[in-house]
Amino acid sequence: MNKRSIDIKKLVRPNIMGLKPYSSARNEFSDADKKMVFLDANENPFDNGLNRYPDPLQSTLKEKISELKGLPAENILLGNGSDEVLDLLFRAFCNPGKDNILTFPPTYGMYQVLADINDVKVKEVLLNDTFQIDMEKALQEIDDETKIIFICSPNNPTGNLMEEESVVRLLESFNGLVVVDEAYIDFADSKSWLEKINEYNNLVVTQTFSKAFGKAGIRLGICFADQEVIEILNSIKPPYNVNILTQEEGLNTLDEYGNILKQKEQIKIYKNQLLSDIQNISFIKEIYKTDANFVLIRVDDADKRYQQILEKGIVVRNRNTQPKCKNCLRITMGTEEQNKELYKVLKSIES
Ligand SMILES: *Cc1c(COP(=O)(O)O)cnc(C)c1O
Repeated sequence: MNKRSIDIKKLVRPNIMGLKPYSSARNEFSDADKKMVFLDANENPFDNGLNRYPDPLQSTLKEKISELKGLPAENILLGNGSDEVLDLLFRAFCNPGKDNILTFPPTYGMYQVLADINDVKVKEVLLNDTFQIDMEKALQEIDDETKIIFICSPNNPTGNLMEEESVVRLLESFNGLVVVDEAYIDFADSKSWLEKINEYNNLVVTQTFSKAFGKAGIRLGICFADQEVIEILNSIKPPYNVNILTQEEGLNTLDEYGNILKQKEQIKIYKNQLLSDIQNISFIKEIYKTDANFVLIRVDDADKRYQQILEKGIVVRNRNTQPKCKNCLRITMGTEEQNKELYKVLKSIES
């Protein structure tokens, strides 16, 4: 069934492979056994709804996510935002001071930051002029110490999806993990790479409650991968990394999934309106195609325009210093009113 199966055990850091994970009290007996008297974890016994430690493996929430995504709970790991999930990948698979990862700038800044924190080198292959992966250069950069390739699709800050062909090519040729960061996949019209988890045991897909799901404040990230990879990440994650309030709010969010779909459609409509409105703004030189809830635009002078927009009370993201993003601003889609306000501001600074 597997199109490709790499040796995951060989990829894991030796110290992680030999690790005996912390065994938490709540791993042994869960709160589901309601009749039990819990005198094992030194908690305060007076019930206030939060006096007990959370379920370390978040089984109820994972079941719900599993139903929604059509992938067994064994293929899911939850984290304190996807940033924690990404950090766990570094810590499990990249030997500090020795290994490297491959990224495709301009892209999400956390890959570099997490690599720096973990003392892991970053090999960079710039996206080409259509913001796609330069496959020839990518394959040249990969060496024996390359452990993870990060592909952000739709990509932040450019907004585009990465070509399916490129992702497949890397999945089929690379002897390490290919992480597809799908923080913005809900806004795209294409399918998620989730469907391919069963075909490639080196594929890791990350998603988040922070964007389309509207819950950046609860910090809940999802990692989908082969069961073997998930088990390794489970063995090194902090035992109670997703707190009770977040697990509960995560469940509430999924109970109102219809709402998410509705908001997503609204955001799309407002986006199309804004994209068509700003076409006649004279200082906007290019509006890049976007599959996300933001748009990258190239202006005449990004620093100047950023400042002018800021002075009118709107904060956008200045990407001027990013590779291939000279004079680019990244604009998140707001409500209909907020987008209208932005349009008015852009009009007002035209002359
Ligand atoms: C916003 C974003 C995330 C989300 O990170 P969280 O820690 O889950 O909030 C992940 N990846 C990319 C590319 C993003 O832009």
